[in-house]
Amino acid sequence: MTTTEQDIPSSMDALVLLGPNEFEVQEAVVPEPARHEVLCEVHSVAICGTDTELIGGHFLKKGWPPGYPYTPGHEWSGVIVATGEQSAELGFEVGTRVAGTAHDGCGVCRMCVTGRYNLCWNYGHEERGHHHYGHYSTGAMRQYHATSIKSVFPIPDTMTLEQAALVDASSIALHAVKRARVNPGEVAAIIGPGAQGLLAGQAANLLGASRVIIVGRGERLKTAAAMGFEVVDNSATDGPEAVRALTEGKGADFTVDTAARGNTPADAVSMTRKGGRVSLIGIPPEPVVLPLQRIVFEEMDLMGVRANPGTCEEVIPLIAEGKLDVDTVTTHRFPLAKFAEGFETFTKRIDGAIKVLIQPNV
Ligand SMILES: [Zn+2]
Ligand SMILES: [Zn+2]
Repeated sequence: MTTTEQDIPSSMDALVLLGPNEFEVQEAVVPEPARHEVLCEVHSVAICGTDTELIGGHFLKKGWPPGYPYTPGHEWSGVIVATGEQSAELGFEVGTRVAGTAHDGCGVCRMCVTGRYNLCWNYGHEERGHHHYGHYSTGAMRQYHATSIKSVFPIPDTMTLEQAALVDASSIALHAVKRARVNPGEVAAIIGPGAQGLLAGQAANLLGASRVIIVGRGERLKTAAAMGFEVVDNSATDGPEAVRALTEGKGADFTVDTAARGNTPADAVSMTRKGGRVSLIGIPPEPVVLPLQRIVFEEMDLMGVRANPGTCEEVIPLIAEGKLDVDTVTTHRFPLAKFAEGFETFTKRIDGAIKVLIQPNV
């Protein structure tokens, strides 16, 4: 640690997973930032669908978490309070407000140097400089988080730290829409009216879509309608059929599946036109039966989407300028001591919950 502007305590509160769906807030040691790392006082951590699966123990085979005890949290914001060797020289100074993210590529491999650090060849090897915070590397659901400077992005004064906690989710939504190569004037279909769907719908609009149709059900669909999107309630009607009916029988130019539940990847293909593109953001259940003959005969493109390479810097000015609304999707806030209540509010969608923030230092 080289610089401090405030007294940093030696211990803090951290959320600790002890087993599948077993967790508690424990006292933990405040980490020291290593070379090219910063220590941040965490302001807000958004709970994400991946956290639900990870906390439930459904990703243990993937090594998420790698074992117990483990601290999750990967969509977060905070303020730099201490810097490791060379971090300040590289522009990450004490007092800088940042949006944090999960992936930290090794920076050396072919994937990293071509900008695809989300696919780093050294994934899973912290000893080779790779981290995936909140997945296999220690996450941010704690009062102080030590992280690589490659995983934090300075934010302008016009952006609040609550908004900054939505940068990670927004940047993934933008990456998904970019993967679908949107052209001006196109019609987008988005499956899932959750945070990812509402953010992807806005990203589609920002990249030039003329219409965005959000397909889903429940309270969140009302939010989608209130935000000005066309909506299809697939609890009352067949989603793909309804999208085709709204597009002269053709289907959307591109579809983003943010739900990844049951048959939605196949629905995404069905509601997309010939020669159209389908982006898959959510982590789908396996195996999923896809209409491969249609994909072949109608030259459809299927895109996997992983995380947010290079797109945090793209969404930050859009959020700061009010062009990408993250406030409407941020519905609840809880202190870390009430994590269990916040988690239940998120998983059971209590009281119209979309994005739930945990604030470890309030
Ligand atoms: Zn996430
Ligand atoms: Zn790499």
